Amino acid sequence: MSHSATSRIQEHIGDPVSDTPLVGRDKLEEIFQDIQADMRYDHELNGCLNCGICTATCPAAHYYDFSPREIVQLLWTENLEGIYDAMQEKIWSCAQCYTCAARCPFSNSPGGLIMLMRETAIKHGMESAKNVLRPFSRVMLKLISTGNQLSPDMITPDGFADWGPNVAKVDAPLELLRKAIPMPTLHTTKTAWEVNLKTSVELYTIWEETGVLDSLETIDENLFDVILDIMDEKRDDYEDWLDDQDDD
Ligand code: SF4
Ligand code: SF4
Repeated sequence: MSHSATSRIQEHIGDPVSDTPLVGRDKLEEIFQDIQADMRYDHELNGCLNCGICTATCPAAHYYDFSPREIVQLLWTENLEGIYDAMQEKIWSCAQCYTCAARCPFSNSPGGLIMLMRETAIKHGMESAKNVLRPFSRVMLKLISTGNQLSPDMITPDGFADWGPNVAKVDAPLELLRKAIPMPTLHTTKTAWEVNLKTSVELYTIWEETGVLDSLETIDENLFDVILDIMDEKRDDYEDWLDDQDDD
């Protein structure tokens, strides 16, 4: 069913006793339309019985003030202000396990819808998205500069405070142990494995073409600038390598 032909958007947006809503209706509509415009939207929202099966089986709902049923209802009833509110905090509680999608009698995917809301929050540079993603800047930098998300030299008590006392157990001569692995691409602790230049450059093209870098620029301009420098350097290195091959 297309959601563009009919609309259940409520007339009033904002605090009913205030004439000055925090976020204008135009902005709320723009955000909702961005969520709705994604080709996955109609596939993942087919109606909602408000039965709560998704929430009953949702692990995140056990620990947080969060309910996939509530999120789906906000989208289904086109409650623009509620959608915006949920994007400030609640959508970031989802663990993306998709148990809800397996159980919903309407074949909805609340987890998938939440993913669309997260992507839209990033696109609009919402503060909630910036706050949630800030701790991942180190991982993003590692990924873009090495092609790996995580490397052995990142596993330190400071780097993974959320691992609690378990991180202290990673106390081994990693440099030596890595050299004992038969594959030469693993003989380093700076990356999980060595990614060659051609693969790195191809990854950059994918990130450019799919809008990943545009999203990064919206969320963290400084990190974006650093990453562009790294990409330029690697592309130059790759060109040099190609020239060397031609000379041989
Ligand atoms: S995908 Fe998210 S909303 Fe669905 S069950 Fe998992 S944590 Fe809950
Ligand atoms: S999304 Fe599905 S499981 Fe959740 S309340 Fe609606 S109909 Fe029930």
